[in-house]
Amino acid sequence: MSLENISKNYEKISHSLPENVQLVAVSKTHPVEKILNVYQLGQRVFGENKVQELTEKYPLLPKDIQWHLIGHLQTNKVKYIAEFIDTIQSVDSEKLLEEVDKQAAKHNRKIKVLLQVKIAEEETKFGLEIHEAKELFQDYMNGKFPNVEITGLMGMATFTDDKKQIAKEFTLLKQIFDKLSLQKKLDTLSMGMSDDYQLAIECGANSVRIGSAIFGYRQYDV
Ligand SMILES: *Cc1c(COP(=O)(O)O)cnc(C)c1O
Repeated sequence: MSLENISKNYEKISHSLPENVQLVAVSKTHPVEKILNVYQLGQRVFGENKVQELTEKYPLLPKDIQWHLIGHLQTNKVKYIAEFIDTIQSVDSEKLLEEVDKQAAKHNRKIKVLLQVKIAEEETKFGLEIHEAKELFQDYMNGKFPNVEITGLMGMATFTDDKKQIAKEFTLLKQIFDKLSLQKKLDTLSMGMSDDYQLAIECGANSVRIGSAIFGYRQYDV
């Protein structure tokens, strides 16, 4: 997609979002010149789903970008992003959270994370079962991961055209979010992508992850 069309898409989407909704521009598979183009229009929060791609792009782009890791993260790769990652949205196991905590300590910083909760019917999606997410959150509240800050939850709906099904799943995550928020103020409920972000916002999302609606279709499937 041309830079001009990317700019148009970006302006349209960023202006259409309610003020309290954060936009994470998902730049996976797209080259740095296209990311820079959106950066120059004011965007500062970008999402990537692969550590290798992120660590290749990171040095080439402005340092005030807040990078979010949104894809499944292997424990042994946390060390490559620990120094600079703003938020890891895809924490889907206790083992991973332990490693993020450890690496954050090494770099003398706190790393923000979202717990990724499995809300889709599909079997293939990564994520914590609801009870696992609650247990992990309790451990965190009890001081178990002092170098991370859990700032919210992330979820992906089933890949379907059935809007009712999607709304049901988003609403479930919103309910869990509200429940956990009683114990600690949580900032971020990340749900919704290019095809379903409006519905996600209706269901309570305050952060949306939008890739192809800004940058066009991806060059390769991920
Ligand atoms: C790729 C990706 C997105 C963005 O998807 P689009 O449909 O291109 O907007 C959002 N969230 C996650 C976890 C992704 O991997």
